[in-house]
Amino acid sequence: MQQVERAVVTGVAGFIGSHLAEALLLQGANVVGIDRRSPASDPVAAENLESLLGRRGFHLVEGELGELDLRSLTEGASAVFHLAGVPGVRPSWGERFAEYLASNVMVTQRLLEACVSTDVPRMVLASSSSVYGNSVGRPSREEDLPFPLSPYGVTKLAAERLSLAYAVRRDTPLSVVALRYFTVYGPRQRPDMAIGRILRAVLTGHPLRLYGDGVQRRDFTYVGDAVAATMAACVAPAQAEAVNVGGGRSVSMLDVLACAAQVTGQEVPILRDVTQLGDVDTTEADLTRARNLLGYEPSTSLAEGMGQQWKWITS
Ligand code: NAD
Repeated sequence: MQQVERAVVTGVAGFIGSHLAEALLLQGANVVGIDRRSPASDPVAAENLESLLGRRGFHLVEGELGELDLRSLTEGASAVFHLAGVPGVRPSWGERFAEYLASNVMVTQRLLEACVSTDVPRMVLASSSSVYGNSVGRPSREEDLPFPLSPYGVTKLAAERLSLAYAVRRDTPLSVVALRYFTVYGPRQRPDMAIGRILRAVLTGHPLRLYGDGVQRRDFTYVGDAVAATMAACVAPAQAEAVNVGGGRSVSMLDVLACAAQVTGQEVPILRDVTQLGDVDTTEADLTRARNLLGYEPSTSLAEGMGQQWKWITS
């Protein structure tokens, strides 16, 4: 694979961003990582950044992307990986929407302007399966009409479309690959996400709040696979593309619970609850474009990936 010399990673103190920065450093890249969470005051950021801080080739910039001088950070970058964002479907209803809009859309526009004015050749953007809404009885394809069912999904779609609009401008070398990640899991997964919540329920004995009847289906992507797709997206022959990044199959929450029982050797304690607003029934990625454009093939089964996450949670 072609080498990235100087990469900017936004959201580096987050779950996926920290894994990506580690992988880029292993490939010999210099990484400027940006995040507003500081390892000095935020224990999650401290844990995510633990193996990065002090490492040769890694430079952390602590700050709000809406305020930093972004041009000085993107200058000379061979690629910008824009992973910063406010994730999560449920809290995006109501008053927090302004925060989603600011961090997912306004900040993306600011970063795109910086990329254009410093001639950055490639941005890889974290989009989301949430842009689809419900799948239509078959795996979702990139050309399907997006119909996000949550304010979060709407902001991710807006950021994705905005980036692709910049990428087809004739006055800039910028090209964009927007990766529609499907539920990413693995060590350091965000604490609000399903697999982490399931494994912590086993560990602590505090029942898992199971939203809905457990037949909702999700396409889970192991973080190592998501990172491999992200690295490949950096050098893929593309000008302006959205690409699905999924785990290769869709499984029901009941199957996930059975898998968790197998991995941990214990039943998952459950408390049933109503379906949450904005939750879709099924997500499933069609991976044809990812295979063709990125040479992507997910390689980690749910049991293997969950085993890695269980090892991390219990260590
Ligand atoms: P995360 O919350 O762990 O990481 C996001 C990071 O971005 C955080 O550390 C946060 O502090 C930082 N950030 C947010 N807004 C910022 C701002 N304005 N200025 C500076 N820093 C800011 O989330 P994650 O799970 O690693 O997700 C990374 C990206 O991938 C997000 O854009 C998310 O929407 C997208 N995504 C994630 C998943 C998933 O399953 N984890 C699925 C689809 C899409």
